Amino acid sequence: SVYLDHNATTAPAPEAVAAMLHALEVAWANPSSTHEPGQQARRLLAEARSRVATFLGCQPSELVFTSGATEANHTAVHAALAATRGIGRQRLVLSSVEHPGLMALAARLEAEGVPVTRLPVDADGRVDLAAAREAIGADVALVSVMGANNETGVLMPVAELAELAHAAGARMHVDATQLAGKAALDFAALGADLMSVSAHKLHGPKGVGALVVRKGFALAPLLAGRQERHRRGGTENLPGIAGFAAACDRAAATPAADIERIAALRDRLEASCATLPGVQVYGRRVARVANTCCLRFGTLDAELVLGRLERADVVASSGAACAAGGTQPSHVLLAMGEPSAHARAALRFSLGRDSTDAHVQQALAAVHAAVAPLLQDAVAAAC
Ligand code: PMP
Repeated sequence: SVYLDHNATTAPAPEAVAAMLHALEVAWANPSSTHEPGQQARRLLAEARSRVATFLGCQPSELVFTSGATEANHTAVHAALAATRGIGRQRLVLSSVEHPGLMALAARLEAEGVPVTRLPVDADGRVDLAAAREAIGADVALVSVMGANNETGVLMPVAELAELAHAAGARMHVDATQLAGKAALDFAALGADLMSVSAHKLHGPKGVGALVVRKGFALAPLLAGRQERHRRGGTENLPGIAGFAAACDRAAATPAADIERIAALRDRLEASCATLPGVQVYGRRVARVANTCCLRFGTLDAELVLGRLERADVVASSGAACAAGGTQPSHVLLAMGEPSAHARAALRFSLGRDSTDAHVQQALAAVHAAVAPLLQDAVAAAC
């Protein structure tokens, strides 16, 4: 099928699969063991760490491997709150369009008494900097805002937010899960103290990711133990980490022109959909990652449209995969000020390295043959 759901996950690259098999079959010993097989695994871990660090623009010692971005996000929040508990600086500031896992954590902490501020976004889905300036005061422990939104692809002003956070004495965390592999990513240049990434969004395996922790921040672990310099306990997922490193190598070796190719495909898909009556594209007026197109076909229910597309062998998703299938409209679209009838209609095409001209052609053929007639019926009924 034509897979247009790369923001949900990507197919593992052959290089990543090969690296994982090698780690499973050959370097399967425990990297903490002092015997030779253990030391062989330890060398592989160190080598993978330095390759991932190079890709992310951080020092190898700043990298903590985790089970993915959800764990990295949780670790960042817990560690930042723990670091300032003694001085009563406990407020968590995040955007109102963060990943559902982080939104859920914020709600849980709030129920436990942690003050939480959710920053509004504008109609294009960008965090409102004026509101951020108001909210980020002397009681803030952490500002956590994603680099790019998973539903709309909209880029967030994270460098400006990091400046505001630091001016107030707070720390800055960036969930860069949807940036890695889609745009240049350089932790050192980002200005953040903490950054989350996940391997499976860039053709690596699921269940592995990383939290980058700026040198000098003594990170309290979420999972206590000796591994990862006492920052994340548990025997390292070496097959996953090796696959992650191979995926990073591949992403680093992909020419910038390929991002432009993906952007051109996305723009073509979007422009052709936009010729239909009642189509609204989200985030089109602001900077976005190259691969993402979030739009609605009038007020046609996203699930109805997706069903029609899937019958034509084209798969996409409504909002976040993590929220898909639920009856709740996307919190991202609602935060952008959309009424729930629009939010329920929003769907997402997300392209990837393996997307081709032919895929976009097939998707457009499906849209024009299977979705456009529904839209015309809806317009006629409204007249
Ligand atoms: N943050 C963002 C922005 C995401 O898009 C995702 C994946 N949907 C996550 C976090 C969670 O990543 P993982 O699946 O590795 O836990």
